[in-house]
Amino acid sequence: MMKKITILGATGSIGRSTVDIVRQHPEKFRIIGLSTNTNIEELQKLNIEFKPKKTVVANYEAYKNCVSSEHCKLLSGKEGLEEIASDPESDIVVVGIVGFAGLLPIMAAAKAGKRILLANKEALVCAGNIIVKICVDSGANIIPIDSEHNAIYQCLGNNYKCFVKPKNITKIILTASGGPFRTWKKKAIFNASVEQAIAHPNWKMGKKISVDSATMINKALEIIEAHWLFNLKSNEIDVVIHPESVVHSMIEFSDKAILAQLGQPDMRVPIAFGLNWPERLEMDLESIDWRQIKSLNFEPLDLNKFPAVELARYVLSHGGSHGAVMNAANEIAVDSFLFGKICFGKIIEIVKKTLEKFSGVASKTVTSLEELESLDDSVRSHCKNLILKESK
Ligand code: MG
Repeated sequence: MMKKITILGATGSIGRSTVDIVRQHPEKFRIIGLSTNTNIEELQKLNIEFKPKKTVVANYEAYKNCVSSEHCKLLSGKEGLEEIASDPESDIVVVGIVGFAGLLPIMAAAKAGKRILLANKEALVCAGNIIVKICVDSGANIIPIDSEHNAIYQCLGNNYKCFVKPKNITKIILTASGGPFRTWKKKAIFNASVEQAIAHPNWKMGKKISVDSATMINKALEIIEAHWLFNLKSNEIDVVIHPESVVHSMIEFSDKAILAQLGQPDMRVPIAFGLNWPERLEMDLESIDWRQIKSLNFEPLDLNKFPAVELARYVLSHGGSHGAVMNAANEIAVDSFLFGKICFGKIIEIVKKTLEKFSGVASKTVTSLEELESLDDSVRSHCKNLILKESK
């Protein structure tokens, strides 16, 4: 049966990969909703090619410059994203929007009981408790397409039920490439440039997630994401450095048997699996050439160089709304780094300082979107002030 798809963040890296799969399988998938933040030009090309019912230009300034077409309803802003995320016609919503901005449409899709292919990890980090509750009530199903979590989901097979701890699992092992600074000295990392930080050795991704991979706070976000998705405790989620990014993650059973999922570092694989679940798709991709792979390496994580990973342990052991604080601080710090306001080494320092500052407020679990937005706002303005002071 033809599945109808909405792609949020269609012009970003996850969106483009999804579009590519739909192009390969027009008999299986039809795009009915698309969104971009500001990339009108690419959105209009996609409109001509796929003729969706509705499109959203999230950024209002960009929306004003956009010409609507006959066959397609043009929307803008949060309301537009919510409308296409919950469109009664769609079966699957792919969320490729980065950061806190993805939360609202994810909640809308969850309320509408959709199959959600989730690449956005920040929403679960900020509001895991809220999203789980909505999905349980509506019957929405989250399929992770973050490569590590998708690997675990593939290893679990029929044993996967979102938010339920899988049977007979003692732990999961998230692999991490170590990012561009794995072999660098701590001092050199501190002063790394934007170009160096976004040059990921294995994956082509957007700027925000590339910087997160360089500080390795991406792995902290992923530990928290795994905690919510698979209902696991912090000590049931391990991290190991694996520079080749061929083993995407592993699960260990109670008898100490381990299953891993391996493959090329290509996001189209996890997305294809989520789109066509429970069947696998034919994909026109390169096979791994095992004659070329001389070795697969694993090494322990160096917490002295990458203290960000420990922030996940702090957030999980303190509970409350610490995840939301960590995320907002990180989003502001990464943005400031990308705009040249702070050096690379300051990013995690700012996140840590902010977590300390908000430790009282964050000990309370936020249960509504309004409370969460207000906490997010105050963390963001605190961070902006902190950065202003530090750059003087
Ligand atoms: Mg990942």
